[in-house]
Amino acid sequence: MLKQNYSLKKHNTFGVAVKCKYFIELKSIEEIEAFLKEKKYKNLHKLVIGEGSNILFTKDYKGIIIKSQISGIELIKETDEFYYVKVGSGIIWDNFVEYCVEKNWQGVENLSSIPGTVGAAPVQNIGAYGVEIKDVLHSVEYIDLRDGSLNVLSNNECKFAYRDSIFKNELKSSIIVSNVVLKLNKKPVFNTNFLGIKKELDKLEETNIKNIRNIIIKIRNSKLPNVNELGNAGSFFKNPIVNDILFLKLKNSQSELPYFKLPNKKYKIPAAYLIDKCGLKGFKYKNAGIYKNQPLVLVNYGKATGQEIFELSKIILSKVKQKFGIELKREVNVW
Ligand code: FAD
Ligand code: NAP
Repeated sequence: MLKQNYSLKKHNTFGVAVKCKYFIELKSIEEIEAFLKEKKYKNLHKLVIGEGSNILFTKDYKGIIIKSQISGIELIKETDEFYYVKVGSGIIWDNFVEYCVEKNWQGVENLSSIPGTVGAAPVQNIGAYGVEIKDVLHSVEYIDLRDGSLNVLSNNECKFAYRDSIFKNELKSSIIVSNVVLKLNKKPVFNTNFLGIKKELDKLEETNIKNIRNIIIKIRNSKLPNVNELGNAGSFFKNPIVNDILFLKLKNSQSELPYFKLPNKKYKIPAAYLIDKCGLKGFKYKNAGIYKNQPLVLVNYGKATGQEIFELSKIILSKVKQKFGIELKREVNVW
């Protein structure tokens, strides 16, 4: 049902109190196609959202917000090695991960406890603990909001990169993901390289999907604020990737600089370290602030406006640039 002049406070995990002109939830491809044929919606700006866990609204949205409620988890093909599973974009991502763990389908357990929907997961190329959705994604089905056509992109065509995809670039704001097909392993290929996981696994008798999921949930609960208690959208900034020249310069001035060596003489530096070293730990700005246990997470202390959170992010960008010469990039989508 179409809602008008509708509050988005419950539809963004920052808990920012903005409104949109129209809001609609659509349950199937047919409903989306019928909606797109209606003349009265044709010229309105459209924004697709999931759970709003990676969005910062800085003002009211003047167009129509569309939320996919497409459901369904279907095993569509099975080979000796893989399960091909089609999942509706409106399914909550972590419910899907839990389902896979129960079925013993391996590949997504490191992505346990990431908030949001299945539809948003390829947009952001969600990642955690050494795994990204691109590692297990077969294809993405979407509807083009401009002409109503139904399309499918293969993994390669999605142009996945670090927290990036074609859906954040060429196809930004012009499509709605309807279904995602994942290719999950029958024979497990675990990724336990993150220090925290290894340490916890060593205490257990067996490395299996369930144990990995439980460990990751435990670590995440201990580090991240609960969105129901303290509004946030996870990491606000991406970890910067720098070239070898800048890396050596930084390392010379900061001997304890943490880093991860990547191919092609590139280095990933944890943005949290840089923010911390700017003396911003626990920094507060009006009703917003930097989370005490994780400087990458910006929080709403209750009454922050989207504009205040955005201004806080600008202060951080400027301090890090001034001290290290690095321009952090926002991971969160700002509207
Ligand atoms: P939204 O925030 O609603 O939307 C995000 C983007 O996707 C927007 O651009 C929106 O337009 C687009 N979009 C949403 N649904 C669709 C659709 N059906 N079709 C087309 N476009 C769509 N992210 C990680 O990668 N790794 C993490 O470990 C992680 N941890 C987090 C922890 C916390 C506490 C929080 C709050 C966030 C975290 N995030 C993490 C960020 C967030 O969970 C992911 O980006 C998630 O995929 C967002 O899903 P969503 O449904 O809330 O999308
Ligand atoms: P952490 O373990 O304290 O590590 C800090 C950063 O170093 C991470 O962000 C990670 O980069 C990088 N890193 C650590 N070990 C690595 C390794 N073995 N190889 C390559 N890079 C490594 O991180 P954290 O903040 O607790 O988060 C743990 C994981 O959950 C990370 O993957 C993080 O991305 C993910 N997470 C994401 C969000 C979000 O909103 N996007 C929120 C919470 C957690 P990467 O981020 O590039 O992996």
